[in-house]
Amino acid sequence: MASSTKQDKPSSVKRVAVIGAGVSGLAAAYKLKSCGFDVTVFEAEGRAGGKLRSISHNGLIWDEGANSMTESEVEVQDLLDNLGLRDKQQYPISQSKRYVVRNGQPVLIPTNPIALITSNILSTQSKFQIFLEPFMWKKRNSKIADDQTQESVGGFFQRHFGKEVVDYLIDPFLGGTSAADPESLSMQHSFPELWTLENRFGSVVGGLIQSKLFSKKDKSGGTKGSVEKKKRPRGSFSFQGGMQTLADTLCKELDKDELKLSSKILSLSYDHNVKSLTGNWTVSSATNSDKNSHGLSVDAVIMTAPLCNVKEMEITKRGTLFPLNFLPEVTYLPLTVVITTFKKENVKKPLEGFGVLVPSVEQKNGLKTLGTLFSSMLFPDRAPNDLHLYTTFVGGTRNKELAYASTDELKQVVSADLKQLLGAEGEPDFINRFTWKKAFPLYGRNYHLVMEAIETMEKNLPGFFYAGNHKGGLSVGKAIASGCKAADLVISYLDTSSDQNRTDM
Ligand code: FAD
Repeated sequence: MASSTKQDKPSSVKRVAVIGAGVSGLAAAYKLKSCGFDVTVFEAEGRAGGKLRSISHNGLIWDEGANSMTESEVEVQDLLDNLGLRDKQQYPISQSKRYVVRNGQPVLIPTNPIALITSNILSTQSKFQIFLEPFMWKKRNSKIADDQTQESVGGFFQRHFGKEVVDYLIDPFLGGTSAADPESLSMQHSFPELWTLENRFGSVVGGLIQSKLFSKKDKSGGTKGSVEKKKRPRGSFSFQGGMQTLADTLCKELDKDELKLSSKILSLSYDHNVKSLTGNWTVSSATNSDKNSHGLSVDAVIMTAPLCNVKEMEITKRGTLFPLNFLPEVTYLPLTVVITTFKKENVKKPLEGFGVLVPSVEQKNGLKTLGTLFSSMLFPDRAPNDLHLYTTFVGGTRNKELAYASTDELKQVVSADLKQLLGAEGEPDFINRFTWKKAFPLYGRNYHLVMEAIETMEKNLPGFFYAGNHKGGLSVGKAIASGCKAADLVISYLDTSSDQNRTDM
């Protein structure tokens, strides 16, 4: 991308402030800059990336935030193509081999119906319940049918597949992807696609089969001349050097004065100025070294800071305070990421594959962690040849206090679980911990109130758009898509307001 300074730009170029240099903010800024907008990204921390955070130390590489991502969203595919990141994409070895603990031991998760029949992960009754779900699924009870937002993820899956499926498949999956439990999460907000599928088809299995058939038909009906996307391996991936590579590559696309690190946004004010076509917003930030706030005049704002941080900001509209007391309290889940290495000879039952998840019910067998990724098995360049590097997650709704335990206590907990599951003997040769006090916003059963509050902000503040993992999904892919969508909204908002201003004149 061509680089230019703010002085070179014609005054007609529209200016946008992006608040937060997590992946959603950086993706939004990249899109806006690519479309010719003048963009400034403000980041409170001294580094960019937010929940993407890779560390390189003594021949080890690990991730303290997201470890991998997928590219189901078209925005992600385009971003990776445009950034030229395809060469740096790293696909894990044996990604389809994932384990869940049953009776204190790892069991391979079946990936097809035949494997499910032979697997000992579920009882015969639950297997029947899965195969017969199209005929046996239960409707929502009348209370939930009246207030659909109230249904939990656990309740939904129990109606379709029974309790054992919730305990041994859904619970560990949620623990590993959002640190939450099936009862706290809202089905509608956590799995909107499955929620819609039920509303359309009733049965989840039947709906999945039918929608797959439809999408195959659509594809085969496509014109011959349509652009063929290159076939790529499916599933999760990371990058050489870890997930931070994605954030760093996005940062390289910004000029020095377009990314302001250690610049915390304290206040925003909107003043519609009829005489001038630009500069309706002023965003004020303070740096660590200079507590006095500095204002920048912009035409639109994309906010990607977590809502708990937005609540601390002061927003004024035409000189009057715009109170944010309608923003509900979001619940955040704490999570600690524990990195350990063991000499290969000390791991007696190493498993090939992605990792192992621990269901809550397996706490009765003494296990306290949420799960472990076999990081150096997935990406062999993450540790020297003679070592296994593991990434273990502790905390979440299941065990909030443990997320704040001392490193010594965490060493005991993680070593004990890895001993039981993988035969890792003795203490780890290396340990590192990183605690996220607010790792994930909980998409709880009242999350519709959060979504309504975001809508209220956007509706009442012209040129203000909210993006990021509090809206539309927790994954890296969903956060990127959310940032790109916000950039599109800004583009059409600024186009419309220019047209309007032209006609007003
Ligand atoms: P953030 O990354 O939270 O970025 C928001 C930014 O705003 C932060 O940098 C913050 O400092 C900044 N900010 C806050 N207040 C202000 C202010 N006043 N002024 C300026 N800046 C401010 N997803 C996956 O897809 N796969 C995974 O394997 C995965 N694993 C995860 C593991 C962990 C431990 C965690 C915590 C998350 C994981 N996720 C995973 C989720 C995913 O990483 C995040 O949802 C996503 O990266 C969030 O991006 P974001 O831009 O929305 O928010």
